[in-house]
Amino acid sequence: MIYKGTRGEKSITSSEAIIKGIAEDGGLYVPNEFPKIDIPFSNLINYDYKQLCVYILKKYLTDFTEEEIKYCVYNAYDNKFIKDEIAPLVKVGEEFFLELYHGPTLAFKDMALSILPYLLKTACRKLGIQDEIVILTATSGDTGKAALQGFANVEGTKIIVFFPEEGVSSIQKAQMITQQGENTHVVGIYGNFDDAQRAVKEIFNDKEFNNILKDKKYMFSSANSINIGRLLPQVVYYIYSYLFMLKQEEIREGESINVVVPTGNFGNILAAYYAKKMGLPINKLICASNENNVLCDFFNEGIYNKNREFKVTSSPSMDILISSNLERLLYHISGEDESIVRDLMRKLNNEGKYVINENMKNELKDFYSGFASDKETYKIIKDVFEYDKYLMDTHTAVAYKVYRDYKNVMKDNKKTIIASTASPFKFPRDVCKALGIDNNDLDDFQLLDKLSSFANVSIPNGISDIQDRKVIHNNLCKKEELKSQIEKFLKV
Ligand SMILES: *Cc1c(COP(=O)(O)O)cnc(C)c1O
Repeated sequence: MIYKGTRGEKSITSSEAIIKGIAEDGGLYVPNEFPKIDIPFSNLINYDYKQLCVYILKKYLTDFTEEEIKYCVYNAYDNKFIKDEIAPLVKVGEEFFLELYHGPTLAFKDMALSILPYLLKTACRKLGIQDEIVILTATSGDTGKAALQGFANVEGTKIIVFFPEEGVSSIQKAQMITQQGENTHVVGIYGNFDDAQRAVKEIFNDKEFNNILKDKKYMFSSANSINIGRLLPQVVYYIYSYLFMLKQEEIREGESINVVVPTGNFGNILAAYYAKKMGLPINKLICASNENNVLCDFFNEGIYNKNREFKVTSSPSMDILISSNLERLLYHISGEDESIVRDLMRKLNNEGKYVINENMKNELKDFYSGFASDKETYKIIKDVFEYDKYLMDTHTAVAYKVYRDYKNVMKDNKKTIIASTASPFKFPRDVCKALGIDNNDLDDFQLLDKLSSFANVSIPNGISDIQDRKVIHNNLCKKEELKSQIEKFLKV
């Protein structure tokens, strides 16, 4: 297996792709083929999460030994996940919620960011890299904490996280600014997530700055979902949940299911697309957006247009107008034509807009897309809680709302998995508001208790003591000042 850049950069091994994060020409690394699931499902149902993960990763990381992959997998998915299944599938009414938030930071980002540091360290060891790896990350809230948690105190690495000061929930912010570890640095920026992501990408592409750091024995890498090392571990839970349904006899072998994903940067749903390409019987990939519905328009019209108002919603981890991983999908559906991708990305950069050709549009038939407003999001949280006593967060609610619309319109009764991407306790203000709990004079930390007693669910460990933790990072900068923040922290 080799990895190619979506904009034409030459092929490299998986270790190199994981270390580099992003290609020098700005492209993203993609596998040159989709390996097939080649063990019968009836045998695979006996694999636990870790065994399945080893099996899948072996197909993609062909330059790693089996021992190396096991080392990464078994260190990542240990008891920092509070459920033995790692990614439990919970049946609520007719639907199946794939709860991806039982890791240390209570969002699905843990699924990949618990393993990425191990993959990266192993890759460096394999290639004899001595430089210190500096992880640069822009976050819409959840990636930041999950990456900090994953990389804190990992020898040979430093991590710098930039988050939109006004664009994350108080709990998300508190999680990040209380992060311990000498090698961590957290900075709020004035601007939104797209500003942060763009500024970070510019730094990756700044040759001069990279050379200066190279002389000081530093090397940048990314923990954002542009890193292939983050995407691949996410393929596993879709296959795992299908096998679980098979085992529970909810489906028959070969029966196809739908997958619904609340989408921001297009990483999570792209992993489901990869699972489908590997042979998992997925009928529709349902892409759910919030009011920043740029992807929804793309799937319905074949036009990507980010020239629109940026909205701050109750699902902040999806408040994104430039979904980076879509570039990988464009590559796959263009027949791996890097000149088409280059052209579209140039247009996105210059005009904020591009239109795909008819052939590519035809390839989008695997997808369905819709969006939910904040009002609809609140309503669905309340309805499901009242009717099924199941509490979900705002992101998951967006997905569920879009799924209900899909079911109404398409009259499709196939079994469906809804990716549940965060604990409701990560967004207590919005969840309380949805449930009609009076919350005006309480802060987010007080709301945790209120929500816990109202819903009769205990506050998850990862945040139960958050208010008492010491603030360690209080840096704030403009989007033009990222470089000086990096220089200051690295002392270059
Ligand atoms: C990151 C995130 C998303 C969006 O996932 P993408 O892979 O960026 O599409 C959705 N929900 C939550 C809670 C998240 O943290």
